[in-house]
Amino acid sequence: MEQPIAVTRQSFDDWMIPVYAPADFILVRGEGSQVWDQQGKSYIDFAGGIAVNALGHAHPQVLAALVEQAGKLWHLGNGYTNEPVLRLAKQLIDATFADKVFFCNSGAEANEAALKLARKYALDSGNREKNHIVAFNNAFHGRTLFTVSAGGQPKYSQDFAPLPGGITHTPFNDLAAAAQVINDRTCAVIVEPIQGEGGVVTAQPQFLQGLRELCDRHGALLIFDEVQTGVGRTGSLYAYMNYGVVPDVLTTAKALGGGFPIGAMITTDKLAKTLGVGTHGTTYGGNPLAAAVAGVVFSLINTPEVLDGVKQRLEWFIAGLTEINLQYPIFSEIRGAGLLIGCALNPEYAGRAKQITQLANEEGVIALIAGPDVVRFTPSLIIPEQDVKEGLARFARAVARICS
Ligand SMILES: *Cc1c(COP(=O)(O)O)cnc(C)c1O
Repeated sequence: MEQPIAVTRQSFDDWMIPVYAPADFILVRGEGSQVWDQQGKSYIDFAGGIAVNALGHAHPQVLAALVEQAGKLWHLGNGYTNEPVLRLAKQLIDATFADKVFFCNSGAEANEAALKLARKYALDSGNREKNHIVAFNNAFHGRTLFTVSAGGQPKYSQDFAPLPGGITHTPFNDLAAAAQVINDRTCAVIVEPIQGEGGVVTAQPQFLQGLRELCDRHGALLIFDEVQTGVGRTGSLYAYMNYGVVPDVLTTAKALGGGFPIGAMITTDKLAKTLGVGTHGTTYGGNPLAAAVAGVVFSLINTPEVLDGVKQRLEWFIAGLTEINLQYPIFSEIRGAGLLIGCALNPEYAGRAKQITQLANEEGVIALIAGPDVVRFTPSLIIPEQDVKEGLARFARAVARICS
C-alpha cells in the first residue's frame, strides 16, 4: 500500500473551503471522554463533538454494533427497507409521543422535513394562505436555505438571498410577542426547548405552554427542534418531557447516532399521512449502518441509570464551575439543563469566549462556545467523575490565565 498523505493543520488552509476555523492541532484518537492529538497530547473532551458523542468515543457496545452491521449490510436506498431502521423507528415510537418516523442524515435535514410537512399539511387542509412560519430570534435550525431562514441569526442567512419567504421571527420567551404574529395563516411554530447555539437559553415553561395553546387555537403545528436537547442531553430522553408540553413534530439528530450521522423527524399518524409516497426523501435516510449504530446508542442512553447520571454529572459541573467562579469571577451565570451547560461571561470578559476555549485547549481540555459571550459544555452523558474533575482543573488554569 502507498504511504498515507502527510497532513498537518496547514493542510486545512491549503485544501479546505474555509467555512471553519478549526483549532491549531489535529485530534487522531479518542476513548471515553479523552482524545489525543497528532503529538500524543491528551485532552479531556467537554464538547463531545458538539453534543453528538453522547457515549464518548469508541464505546465498546457501539463499536461492536458498528462492526457487526458493517459486515452485513451498509446501504440499500429507500426502494428496500431494512431491519435496523425498522427497529430504530419502533424504539423512537415506544419512547415518545410519536407514531411515525422519517429518517435523514442531519439536524438541518430533519428540520427541513418538518417545515415542509407543515406547509403541505396546511395546504392539504385547503387553505392556500396558511403557509406562515413563526420562529424565534437567535434560534438555530441548521444551514440549508430553509433552515437558516427559519433560524433567527441573520448573519447565517442574509448573504444568500432571496430567502424562502413567509417566516416571521419574534423574541424567544416572549409569549405576548408570539401571540401577536400567530394567527390562522400560521402553519407552524418552530422552537428549541433550549436554544443551544443561541447561548444556552432555556425556554420558560409558560412560554412553551402558551405556544402550544396558540398553535391549538389557530390550527398550527408546534415543532420542537430537539436536535441538541434530545437523546438524554437534559437528563430526560427529550426536553419536551421536562415541560409536559407535547409537540406535533419533533426533530432529533446530533446525539442520536453517537457520532454516526443520522437525523429523524418524528410525528403523529395523522400528520404523517401528509407526506405520501414520493413527496419527500433522501438517499441515505434510514441507512442500515447508521440505524444499527443509533439503535444501540438509543437503548444505552434511554435507561434510568444514564438519564439520572446526567443530573448527577450536572451537579459535579456546577460545583466545580462555581468554585472556579469564586476564585476568578468570570461568569455572570451558569445555566442550562443536564449536560447542556452554558457559562455566560461577565461584561468585563464580553466577546472572549473563543479565546477562553483556545486557552483551554492549551491546558488540555476541549470546550465550546455558544456565541461570543458564552462558554458551553456538552460532554459525554457518561463522562466519568475523574474526567470531570481533571477537565475542570485544566479549565481552571485557562480561566486563571484570562483573569491574570
Ligand atoms: C446542530 C443543530 C441543528 C443542525 O444540525 P446539523 O446536523 O448540523 O444539520 C439544528 N438545530 C439545532 C437546535 C442544533 O443544535
